[in-house]
Amino acid sequence: MRQSKLFTKTIKEAPKDEISFNAQTLIRAGFIDKVGAGIYTFLPLGLRAHNKICDIVREEMDAVGGQEILMPALTPKEFWQITDRWESFDALFRLIGIDKKEYALGATHEEIISPLIKKYLFSYKELPMYVYQIQTKFRNELRAKAGLLRGREFSMKDLYSFHVNQEDLDKYYKIIQEAYFEILKRCGLADLTYLTFAAGGAFSKYSHEFQTLAERGEDTIYICDDCRVAVNQELIEEQKTCPECNKTDFRKEKAIEVGNIFKLGTRFSKPFDLRFTDESGKKQDVIMGCYGLGPSRVMGAIVEAHHDDKGIIWPEAVAPYQVHLLALGQDNKTKETAEKIYKDLLAKNVEAIYDDRDEKSAGEKFADADLIGIPVRLVISEKTIDKDSAEIKRRDSNKVELVKLEGLVSKFK
Ligand SMILES: [Zn+2]
Repeated sequence: MRQSKLFTKTIKEAPKDEISFNAQTLIRAGFIDKVGAGIYTFLPLGLRAHNKICDIVREEMDAVGGQEILMPALTPKEFWQITDRWESFDALFRLIGIDKKEYALGATHEEIISPLIKKYLFSYKELPMYVYQIQTKFRNELRAKAGLLRGREFSMKDLYSFHVNQEDLDKYYKIIQEAYFEILKRCGLADLTYLTFAAGGAFSKYSHEFQTLAERGEDTIYICDDCRVAVNQELIEEQKTCPECNKTDFRKEKAIEVGNIFKLGTRFSKPFDLRFTDESGKKQDVIMGCYGLGPSRVMGAIVEAHHDDKGIIWPEAVAPYQVHLLALGQDNKTKETAEKIYKDLLAKNVEAIYDDRDEKSAGEKFADADLIGIPVRLVISEKTIDKDSAEIKRRDSNKVELVKLEGLVSKFK
């Protein structure tokens, strides 16, 4: 991508009404644009980072047997009435169609997936089943001040699992926990994330959240360092000891909830009459689990966790580009050399963004590169060309290295 052609620009100051650090930084760096409280447009750089997170999520969900579908965002009222959630779901966006019927914008999709699976599920032989989607969700949040961490419209991966019994659900629930840590590892967040016990429901003592430590996190968690687990704020009122080792000395930290998983039991299968025929020919209720993880929220959490005072420091796997090539100077030699390197990078399928803007000073180009946060910065100038070299610096290090132009491009990928 030529930066001269990128329609977005970095900006000096984020909108005054934007108070969250992740959104301020992403807006300034040209990743997102604010449309309203909790509502953002993903710009070219932001969409690339978001898509990379989605790809990682998709790979890991496919690896644990997930089959991807896409359910509608627009959901008829009667589905929600079957589970008594039309009235009780506070954050539901409700609207009236031209047919005078009422609809909700999907905040979660148990009401859609349960009757869907009912159409295809007959026998125990078809279970377990794992179905997921990555989709835009809507929540009518009263406070939406945390940028990508609490949107009114946000992306969500929701997987639903269907089992013959509780034991099978319990087994899969553990598998998903591991898959989530694999996703978070690839996104550079695993070391900062704690499996956090939260209140369960009628069907299990606990549900679990994936809480990523962050100074400006909206949640408070209580960590047991011996077990490397945590308890969330609501549960700590009832649960005074570590659920794993019973100790009481917790470390209190601020965190961001990037995912949550829940054993649903028969909460949704009963109202939708979702049943299967067991081995003895008897009808049984399906046992369900649901597993949420928000790619846009993960993106916000990455920015909260990986930055310095100059800007974002993207982990490689989710960076919009791998190399930021900067041409400093207007002389022909610099331009020609940088052009050649850019073309060579593209030919080798290295994802590169090339700062070829004539009107920007070296200082402005460096500042933009730091703000945008691509993992590797590659500088070409008269000075480096004199030494037949380019200057390489990693965004997460202060070390600057001169590397010979010959064979330079083969260093990437
Ligand atoms: Zn413990």
